[in-house]
Amino acid sequence: MPIYEYRCLDCRNKVEILVLPGSQITSPTCPRCGGTNMQRLMSSFAHHVSEKDRLSQVDTSRPMSEDYYRDDRNIGLWAKKRMQELGHDPGPEFEGIVEKAKKDVKEKLSD
Ligand SMILES: [Zn+2]
Repeated sequence: MPIYEYRCLDCRNKVEILVLPGSQITSPTCPRCGGTNMQRLMSSFAHHVSEKDRLSQVDTSRPMSEDYYRDDRNIGLWAKKRMQELGHDPGPEFEGIVEKAKKDVKEKLSD
């Protein structure tokens, strides 16, 4: 049974919601404050999340964990967001740098 993680945007409570077979989550409710502003968190179910959404979830005030980079779609996002915050256009050559970084990380993780 899949478990979805949500964060309550009202009280910042993190909630795990078990999805029963055949049921649909329409509007999860925070068990702590009753709020309905629930944001789905990144998880293994996040396949449909666009790069823009993933980018918006990057917190550039701290380095991301190594686990984060095990999903190679996340590689380069931190740097990209940081550059955007600093007003730089990553530019087309950035994609090449990211591709190389992905390869390097894969080699590192397979050690
Ligand atoms: Zn809440």
